[in-house]
Amino acid sequence: MENLRVLELYSGIGGMHYALTESGVAAKVVAAVDVNTTANEIYKHNFPNTPLLPKTIEGMTLDDFNKLAFDMILMSPPCQPFTRIGLQGDISDPRTKSFLYILDLLPRLIKLPRFILLENVKGFETSSARDSLVKTLKECGYNYQELMVSPTCLGMPNSRLRYFMIAKAPPGSFSFHTTSEIQEGFPQPADKVLLEPSSPISPSPTSTAYQEEEHKEDEGGILYKLERAQDAERKSSQNRDQSLRQISVYLEDQGEGEMEQYLLPTKTLLRYALLMDIVRPTCRRSVCFTKGYGHYVEGTGSVLQSCMETDMEAAFKSPERLSDEEKLNQLSRLKLRYFSPREIANLMGFPKHFTVPKNISTKQQYRVLGNSLNVHVVARLIELLVS
Ligand code: SAH
Repeated sequence: MENLRVLELYSGIGGMHYALTESGVAAKVVAAVDVNTTANEIYKHNFPNTPLLPKTIEGMTLDDFNKLAFDMILMSPPCQPFTRIGLQGDISDPRTKSFLYILDLLPRLIKLPRFILLENVKGFETSSARDSLVKTLKECGYNYQELMVSPTCLGMPNSRLRYFMIAKAPPGSFSFHTTSEIQEGFPQPADKVLLEPSSPISPSPTSTAYQEEEHKEDEGGILYKLERAQDAERKSSQNRDQSLRQISVYLEDQGEGEMEQYLLPTKTLLRYALLMDIVRPTCRRSVCFTKGYGHYVEGTGSVLQSCMETDMEAAFKSPERLSDEEKLNQLSRLKLRYFSPREIANLMGFPKHFTVPKNISTKQQYRVLGNSLNVHVVARLIELLVS
């Protein structure tokens, strides 16, 4: 097959580009488009030969798009309008404008791209933006499948449940059995489906299928560490799951001194210790790293207990009876630290040769990584899309 011409929209730090390379599909990115200067600097540093357009998508004309003559679109539109923590502005959020612009352009292109892959957060599946996407694809005759996949499906000890749409222009069809429902995990090959039906789930906001991020406020007792019994049980069952690799596989092999810069500051320890998600190198789980990591502690990603000799229960024992100094003493023994940007990149499947220019700060790195995607997951989806 000739090299596919790929358009990478909302390219960020190039997660899609790495996935494309990893998929082994013969392809070249003919243009990457993003407005974020930090992300663009990192992208250029790693892909110096890819044309990177530092402009808004809606600033490009139909003619500009036609001239690129692309066969495939890879895109991760901004997810803030669809996250549950966000305001859920959906299509009324100005950040969705560029995506609606793409949907408007698609049917008017001289040549429909043969392949489309879109990534977004959980929450997108119930949005009007998703409905508009499906409507446009149907009108253009695309064959498509929606999926929800987390890197845990590939044995990686990191939750990052995401919505994916993969679509093929007519007359393309998939090598697996497609359904109008959202598939959970990677699809089974067509011959296996008959024997072992996968469990499709409907795009319902009340779906209970996604236990990893859903909490019911009023259920379960609270343990020593503001944690519900059911959460603790879920975490320990993940840690026992031998199909998942240990966190240690993804850690930097640096001297302790080098990692000291990532230790949690005293103030953070005192204020947030009870709310943090703490993992040890031997754990087989970590929560999704988001762009606020290293800045806000709650809900932005796991922290690492780097001293294994200290027992966590002991460190958290009856904090209410201790003075701040005593509490701090206990907590410091755990040597809690943030994962370094490189370790997060590892947990997100970025290759070793992915590097960042020296002038980009740690906080900036957390930000752009938090916006990015799991490279291995997307690589598998690109394979499925093209095969
Ligand atoms: N897949 C990317 C991350 C996408 S996050 C990666 O691997 O890093 C969404 C990106 O869209 C952000 O980098 C943001 O700067 C960019 N963006 C948002 N609105 C845009 C617009 N209107 N035009 C171009 N880029 C935009």
